[in-house]
Amino acid sequence: MATARCACGDIVLTITGEPNGTSMCHCKDCQRRTGSPFGVGYYYTPEQVEIAGSPKAYERGTDSGNRLRNFFCPRCGTTVYWLVGPQLERVGVAVGCFDEPDGALPSRSVYEIRKHAWVDTSAIAQRFPRSRQ
Ligand SMILES: [Zn+2]
Ligand SMILES: [Zn+2]
Repeated sequence: MATARCACGDIVLTITGEPNGTSMCHCKDCQRRTGSPFGVGYYYTPEQVEIAGSPKAYERGTDSGNRLRNFFCPRCGTTVYWLVGPQLERVGVAVGCFDEPDGALPSRSVYEIRKHAWVDTSAIAQRFPRSRQ
């Protein structure tokens, strides 16, 4: 079991089981969301994630035509998780919000067309110029 939370602790996620994917994304939207050169998300099914607190939502489209809805804490502004997919059927959790990160290398790196030149992804198994196909 893993726990993820926002900076102020109002939003807490309790996660059961292993992620079905871990992804590093260099797209402009992830850069803006995080304020960093890339975002890293761990992906789960909705059944694996229990959410406590009252996050606000911000929905946007993605370059690959998916829907993506970010959930952030109205008090401290941290985006702790998001829903993505045609039916918003996958839950992404921001790796920086985990209490005890596992330290594992993400399984894929996407939107490398936007990657900052100094970020080295050569050790990551699957790398894509845009979204995963
Ligand atoms: Zn908060
Ligand atoms: Zn992205």
